[in-house]
Amino acid sequence: MSDLFARQALLPDGWHQNVTITLAKDGTFAKVTPNSAAPAGVEQVACVVPPMPNLHSHAFQRAMSGLGEKRANPDDTFWTWRKLMYQLAHRITPEQMHAISAYLYAEMLCAGYTQVAEFHYLHNAHDGAAYAQKATLSLCLANAAEEAGMGLTLLPTLYTYALWQKPLQDAQKRFASTPELIADIVTATQAATQDSKLVRVGVGLHSLRAVALDTVADMLRIAGPHTPVHIHIAEQMQEVRDCIAATGQRPVEHLLTHAPVDARWCLVHATHLTEAETQALAKSGAIAGLCPITEANLGDGIFPLADYVSHNGRFGLGSDSNILLSPWEELRILEYSQRLHHQKRCVGLPSKHLGSTGGWLYRESLKGGAQACGLPEWGLQAGARADLCVLDTEAFLLPDLMGDDVLDAAIFSQTAPPVLHVMSAGQWRVRDRQHHNATALRQAFRQAVRPLLSN
Ligand SMILES: [Zn+2]
Repeated sequence: MSDLFARQALLPDGWHQNVTITLAKDGTFAKVTPNSAAPAGVEQVACVVPPMPNLHSHAFQRAMSGLGEKRANPDDTFWTWRKLMYQLAHRITPEQMHAISAYLYAEMLCAGYTQVAEFHYLHNAHDGAAYAQKATLSLCLANAAEEAGMGLTLLPTLYTYALWQKPLQDAQKRFASTPELIADIVTATQAATQDSKLVRVGVGLHSLRAVALDTVADMLRIAGPHTPVHIHIAEQMQEVRDCIAATGQRPVEHLLTHAPVDARWCLVHATHLTEAETQALAKSGAIAGLCPITEANLGDGIFPLADYVSHNGRFGLGSDSNILLSPWEELRILEYSQRLHHQKRCVGLPSKHLGSTGGWLYRESLKGGAQACGLPEWGLQAGARADLCVLDTEAFLLPDLMGDDVLDAAIFSQTAPPVLHVMSAGQWRVRDRQHHNATALRQAFRQAVRPLLSN
């Protein structure tokens, strides 16, 4: 563990120069002091930013990245991709889950994420029965996060129905869960991770089609008063049409009418919104969990970001299917999809807001991601977990960039994540772009996925 001196750093109140970052023994920041003289013997770096919390991931889907791109019929849709994903979910073992997640988390660290909310609905053994240790697969994720040095907000997720009260299909039997099962998994995971600096537990509701709204109160009780509650919502137009057919309301409208949605909640995707839903979601204080790379890959649609942020709506980023890991690319696609849609530039900011697009999007995603991951303190400040990214400003084409110009360059002018070193809970996990255990974790990942890829 060692202190650090940054020539510039992004603190909660903006950019500062000559920042001394002092670590406490418990893996938090003891002190962050701008405008200081470089202490003797302390490592000096050019530029430090808070890492991005990743608010939505399905770790196992990393094992099919790039394999869902073959057109199976002229009307290929989300639902054909989902079939391939179900095949993978059906086959994966706890050992494979561990190996896939551990390397995925190492990859996330290298990209500049140090916290991930894992929306975890794969609970049961292959025959659909609960494991003897009901939290078996949840604990694989928790152990993988510890092994890689990744912060984890584990969200054991309720999945009861295939479609609006219809029983689960055979391909979904490993997801089958009741609030009682989720409570057991939450309790077991909390007990196993109570001393962890990295792991915390919330809950997930898979979607309106897969859970009954009368279980929400039970799930909120299981979660406890301050932990996050996530739900997939309004990702696909088919889902919107089904919801209207089943309830007479659109998904976000229906949820906001029947559940006490507030700042604890993260509505993942929320892609298809009317203007009234956009305003109501913004007003709720919940986070819109945007996953621009996955949403583009699956052909979901475009979130109405400009309207939403103009109503003070909060959002964060998720890597979701994990087809590609880069918060920088997520922000690039988020902003570019808006520009293409509106035929304007610099669209992702509130209507009256001027200044750097990248700077604003990065800061808002930090705040929204931290809220959705249940991290009340995040960023370079005393008391927060000591997580930071040292950016590789030497890799930028233009020299001597300062402040938000760094974030604009990182997001818009280069493809590789500009991340040189990464620390989580006071320990270096990535140095010179390399995760400390990359070779072994990569080998284990490749060994684990090989049998999953064979027919
Ligand atoms: Zn998802």
